[in-house]
Amino acid sequence: MPDIETAAQRIKELRELIEYHSNAYYNADAPEIEDDEYDALMRELKQLEAQYPELQDENSPTVRVGGAASSKFASVEHAVAMQSLRDVFSMEEVEQFCGEFSGAQFVVEKKIDGLSVSLEYTDGVLTRGSTRGDGRVGEDITENLLTIASIPHRIKTTASFLEVRGEVYMPRKTFAALNAFQEENGLKTFKNPRNAAAGSLRQKDAAITASRGLDIFVFNVQQVSGIEFETHSQSLAYLSDCGFPVSPEFTVVSGYEEVAEAIEKIGAQRGGLEYDIDGAVIKVNSLSLRQSAGVTSKFPKWAVAFKYPPEQKQTVLRDIEVTVGRTGVLTPTGVFDPVLLAGTSVSRASLHNQDYITKKDIRIGDTVVLRKAGEIIPEVVSVAVHGGGEQYFLPEVCPSCGEKVFRLEDEAALRCLNPDCPAQLVRNIVHFASRDAMDIEGMGPAVIEQLISSGKIKSPADIYGLQEEDIASLDRMGKKSAKNLIAAIERSKSNDLYKLIYALGMRHIGESASRLLAGRFSTMQNLMEATAESFASIDGFGEIMAESVVDFFSTAHAKDLIKRLAEWGVNMEAQNGESENTSNKLEGLTFVITGTLAGMTRDEAKALIIANGGKASGSVSKKTSYLLAGENPGSKLTKAEELGVKVISLEELEGILNG
Ligand code: NAD
Repeated sequence: MPDIETAAQRIKELRELIEYHSNAYYNADAPEIEDDEYDALMRELKQLEAQYPELQDENSPTVRVGGAASSKFASVEHAVAMQSLRDVFSMEEVEQFCGEFSGAQFVVEKKIDGLSVSLEYTDGVLTRGSTRGDGRVGEDITENLLTIASIPHRIKTTASFLEVRGEVYMPRKTFAALNAFQEENGLKTFKNPRNAAAGSLRQKDAAITASRGLDIFVFNVQQVSGIEFETHSQSLAYLSDCGFPVSPEFTVVSGYEEVAEAIEKIGAQRGGLEYDIDGAVIKVNSLSLRQSAGVTSKFPKWAVAFKYPPEQKQTVLRDIEVTVGRTGVLTPTGVFDPVLLAGTSVSRASLHNQDYITKKDIRIGDTVVLRKAGEIIPEVVSVAVHGGGEQYFLPEVCPSCGEKVFRLEDEAALRCLNPDCPAQLVRNIVHFASRDAMDIEGMGPAVIEQLISSGKIKSPADIYGLQEEDIASLDRMGKKSAKNLIAAIERSKSNDLYKLIYALGMRHIGESASRLLAGRFSTMQNLMEATAESFASIDGFGEIMAESVVDFFSTAHAKDLIKRLAEWGVNMEAQNGESENTSNKLEGLTFVITGTLAGMTRDEAKALIIANGGKASGSVSKKTSYLLAGENPGSKLTKAEELGVKVISLEELEGILNG
C-alpha cells in the first residue's frame, strides 16, 4: 500500500486524467483511449480511495455520473435521476452481487453500447426527449430523437405520463458505411459506433441526425402514472406492447448459476450482433426489492454491469503481406490461421509498421495472441511462442514498383517516394495538375483516372505527350474540351520553377517551401545536385525537409522524370531569379499570420516574409514582432492584443518591404 502522500498525489493525477478523458468521451464524442484503459484508471482510483477514505471527495469521478449537459441545447432536469451502473469485471463479483439478493429473480440484459436517453410521453404523445448529461441535468434533444424511425411519436397507453429510458445506438453496418462516406469526403471519421451515435444525436441540425440511421432499445420505465408494475420484466413486456423496441432477448433467471449462464450466452454472441454491446446488465426483477435496496449517488444498488474482458485467442501467423497505399505508405498485414473471436472469424490483422513488429518481435511462423480491441478491430497482443522464423523486416523496395523505400525521420512508416509508382499514380498526377501546382485547368481526377486506366499516361511526364484525340475519346469530353485541355497543358510548360517543384509532391515540401527552393537554387539542375548541407543556409527550412528533397532526387525514377519533363520543354528555371523577391528588410523580425489575407494565401505570405529575411512562427508569444492579420482572424488576434503585439495588415507589410 502506498504512503498517504504518494496516494494523494496519484489520486490527484488520476482524477485529472479521468476528467480529461471523460470530457473527450462524453462532451466531445471523441475518446482518445480505449474503454478498458479508461476502466483501469477508474479502478485504480477506486482502490486508492478505498485504502484512504480520508482522501475521498464528493466531486470524485468515482461518485459522480460522467458527462455534463452542453449549453448547445436547452437543459432538462431529470425528475428521476439517470444513473450509471456499477461495473464488475469478474464472475466472483457477480456471485457476490447475486448473494446479496438470495432467492430473488434477476433479469439479464445486453448492455447496449450507445448513448442513454429519456423519452417522456404525456397522454401517449412524445413531448420531450433528453440526454443523460450528468444524471440530474441533461440536454433537450427532442427534435433529434423524433427523427429516429423506431421511436414511436405516439403510443397507446392508459398512463397519463410515462418516462422511459433507452440507449440510442448506431448499427455496425450503418457505422461502417458512415465512416466510409466520411473518409471519402475528407470528413472526420468516428472511432466506434458509440461515438458515432453520440456525435450524430447531439447535433444542432436535426436533419443530420435524421441522415445517420440511428436506432434505439429501451430498457427501463423511469416514471409512470396510472399503471402499477410489480416486476421489471412486466414493465419491459408492457413497453414492447406499446411499440418500443425493447432490450433485446432479455432473460429472467434465478440464482447465480443461471445468471452466469445468461452472461456467458450473451458473451458468446457479442461479436456476431448487429450492434455493439459492452457488457451484460444484471438487475433485480422485483420492483419492491429494488426500492428497499436503494441507490448511491452514482448507481443503483440493485443492478451491476458485467464487462466482458476483450476476447483473446492464440493462432499461428502464416504470412505477412505488404501493400502500398495511395500515399506511398507500406502497410504490413498479418495473415493467420482463422480463429473465432467474439463471434466472428478472424484471419488478418494490421501489423502497422516496422516499429510495431520489432517491439513485439513478430516473426512468420510464430504463435501469437490475437484480441479484438473495441470489439471490432483485431490486433496482435503478443507473441506466445516463436516458431523458429527469422526476425522480420519490411522489404527495402516498394512491392508495387520495386523502387527503394524510405523511412522519413519523423515517421514510423516506410514510404515509396517514386512519383511514377502505379499504386500512387492517380493521387500524384491529380496533385501535379492541381491549381497550386502545374495548374492544368480541366485535368481533374475523372480525366486522370481514365487516362491512367486506358494506359495513356503512366507518369506525370506523359501528360505532355498527350494529343487532342487521346482526350476527345474520353467519357464526357468532346473536341472543344480536348483542345482547351491541350492548351492548358501547353501553358503549364512555362510555369515558374516553384510550381514544378511543388508539383513533384515531395513529402513536407509545400508551396512556400517550393518557393524558397526555387529562390535559393534558381534551376532544377542546381536543386537536384544540392547536398543536405546546402539547405542549412535557407532560413525556415528544416532538416526533415532537406532530407526529403535529397531522398527524392536520389532515385532513378525522379531523375528520369525531370529529364523527360525537360525534353518536353517544361520550364526548369526560376523566372524571378534569386534577387528580385528577396531582401533582408525583415531580418530579426518574427511574424505570425492569422485570418484570410486579401490576394495572397497564408503560405505565400509566409514565403514572402522568409524570402525577405523574417521568421514566420505558428503561435503568438512575447517574442512576436508583428501579427499579420487578414479577415476573420482567429484567437491569435486576442492573444496578440493581450500581449501588446503590434497587428498589421498585408498592405502595411508590403509598405515595409517597399520602403
Ligand atoms: P456505463 O456506460 O458503463 O453504464 C451505464 C449506462 O449503460 C447507462 O447510461 C445506460 O444507458 C447503459 N445501458 C445500456 N444498456 C443497458 C441496459 N440494458 N440496462 C441498463 N443500462 C443500460 O457507465 P458510464 O458511467 O456512463 O460510462 C462508463 C463507460 O464509458 C465505461 O465503459 C467507460 O469505459 C466508458 N468511458 C470511456 C472513456 C474513454 O476515454 N474511452 C471515457 C469515459 C467513459
